[in-house]
Amino acid sequence: MKYLPIPVLTSTCIARLWNRIQCQSDTECWLWTGAKSKQGYGRFKLKGQLFSVTRLVYFLSYGKDPAPKHVCHTCDVPGCCNPKHLWLGTAGENNNDSVQKGRYERKSTARRGIRHPQQKYNEQVKQQLQKLAMTMTVKRAAEILGVNVWSAYQIVRCGHTYKCGLEQLVSSSGS
Ligand SMILES: [Zn+2]
Repeated sequence: MKYLPIPVLTSTCIARLWNRIQCQSDTECWLWTGAKSKQGYGRFKLKGQLFSVTRLVYFLSYGKDPAPKHVCHTCDVPGCCNPKHLWLGTAGENNNDSVQKGRYERKSTARRGIRHPQQKYNEQVKQQLQKLAMTMTVKRAAEILGVNVWSAYQIVRCGHTYKCGLEQLVSSSGS
């Protein structure tokens, strides 16, 4: 199966995507509340094409298009979008995973899934950001405070912080 390459995402698209995800703590599943396939996998329309939500989330969180690999869940919850519950596997690995879940899971969570060091911001910065974001776009607030735009979205949305290469993408897409 061939996957469509992930197009450039505008900050509006990214915000629209994250607005449909119930962000929880890092260990919990973040459920997709938008459109779903019959199997329960999130679907997101971009430029007239349907994309898998987990593939987009993977891309946004790790800065890398998962193609040609599958995005698999360590938690086995199809609608889950927690980047920490996603890992890349081949079709074979994915099937294997479903069949022998218990055994495979421990192995898969141990793999180097997280490619980006997380950047933590202190509470003061977070509070300032949240305050600013009420009066302007998150992107602008992030620029003012010198916070990574992606992290800013995370902080404003749910208090999580991830660092990824997204800021270039966001700024080059002209918001
Ligand atoms: Zn999950």
